[in-house]
Amino acid sequence: MNLLQFLFILALSVTVIAEKKSYDGYKLYKVVPKTEKEVEILEEIRDARFADFWNEYFKVNDDVRMLVEPDLQLVVQGRLMHAGVQVSTIIEDVQKVINKQLTPIKDPSRSSSFLSYDWEAYHDLNAIERWLDELVTEYPSIVSPVTMGYSVENRTIRGIVINYNPSRDKPAAIIEGTLHAREWISTAAVTWIIKEFLTSNDEDVRAMAENLEWHIFPVVNPDGYVYTFTDDRMWRKNRSPASFTSCAANNVSDDMSNGVDLNRNFDFEWMTIGASNNSCTNTYAGPSAASEPETKAISNYVLNVKEKADIVYYLSFHSFTQLFILPYSHVTNVTQFPADNHDDLVEIAINSTQKLSERFGTHYRVGIAAEVLYPMGGSSFDWAKAYGNASISYLIELRDEGQYGFLLPPEQIIPNNLEIMDALVEMDKSTKRLGYYVPTSAASTSIYSLALITLAVLSVNLFN
Ligand SMILES: [Zn+2]
Repeated sequence: MNLLQFLFILALSVTVIAEKKSYDGYKLYKVVPKTEKEVEILEEIRDARFADFWNEYFKVNDDVRMLVEPDLQLVVQGRLMHAGVQVSTIIEDVQKVINKQLTPIKDPSRSSSFLSYDWEAYHDLNAIERWLDELVTEYPSIVSPVTMGYSVENRTIRGIVINYNPSRDKPAAIIEGTLHAREWISTAAVTWIIKEFLTSNDEDVRAMAENLEWHIFPVVNPDGYVYTFTDDRMWRKNRSPASFTSCAANNVSDDMSNGVDLNRNFDFEWMTIGASNNSCTNTYAGPSAASEPETKAISNYVLNVKEKADIVYYLSFHSFTQLFILPYSHVTNVTQFPADNHDDLVEIAINSTQKLSERFGTHYRVGIAAEVLYPMGGSSFDWAKAYGNASISYLIELRDEGQYGFLLPPEQIIPNNLEIMDALVEMDKSTKRLGYYVPTSAASTSIYSLALITLAVLSVNLFN
């Protein structure tokens, strides 16, 4: 390499480093507004763009998380203190926590690798795609690769279908991960579910894996996910440049307008509530319903699956707050528009979250979005319920309750995944008990055969 080439490469790497957004010295604050007046002060800070709020809406007594850059910390703290609002610092230096997510302290007792993948750190899109390839090679008769469609930047939205005994007809289930780019625990949980379906010896996990045809997509927003690694860890939306504009009025960088919130873009109650028509915000719903290729890819995929089989489950994994959210999300009161099987959805979610809490005592709440979060239109799981006829459709907000939020430390990946698997097993038991599908796999048939043989033996004995 000559000097010129060296300088060129150096300049390139400096550019790359300079482009990546640093969160050095950023602090994460927690505020719990005690009165409507305190809610108004938070709204004032939000409207002045002095902080990046991790909650879209504020309610009295509900925790609020806000990320504040170093230059604005005195202003924000001063405003809150002046109004008598209590504020505590949750993360002193956000960049340090971001770095820790990628370079965890290795603990051999927690080793969890499966082929080239593990759950001791968060992994980028290349690592996930490499692993999906390995699964197809290792389990050729069970795992097939599948393409859902293409992203704005023309990345393939890749997933796998897990189908034990493909010759036997069975109902379908769809798992969608990482619709929101920065919610990395979603990716880690969905990949774990794949691992469990392929390797677990637990009878209930086996039954769940084998009785359904699973369509699993760890990252449905690949452009956004890649962007959280290369440019901005806190990116949420896709990377559509179609609504690019100046964001000076919003006091955020113009780059904020390069993206649509995919969980507001679905053609179900689009832009009716809890969404923005301003591309400089994190909840920008897009120029029209289902305008985004990622949204179209998911919608078309669900409709194709629906043509061939009943969809029992549609699970959309997000973070954070620890919630099982039931359809529908646009109403402010469940009586306005309850899902046709609302009571079952509640019962199954309550059973699942109770089971979840047994392992580590983690508490999840259950309800429609208006009850546990805030109402919103245009979400994927509502759409999948309404148009995909998915019997059991949930949006699951994973760990934590806001201590680290999107920056959940890697040590919590495995505990998060273990308890979520407990919840899914219980979900499947309750769903079967309520008659949503009849198990047909070898795993369950063997139990039934055993019961029949026992009965036969018993009757022979009776008649003797
Ligand atoms: Zn989300």
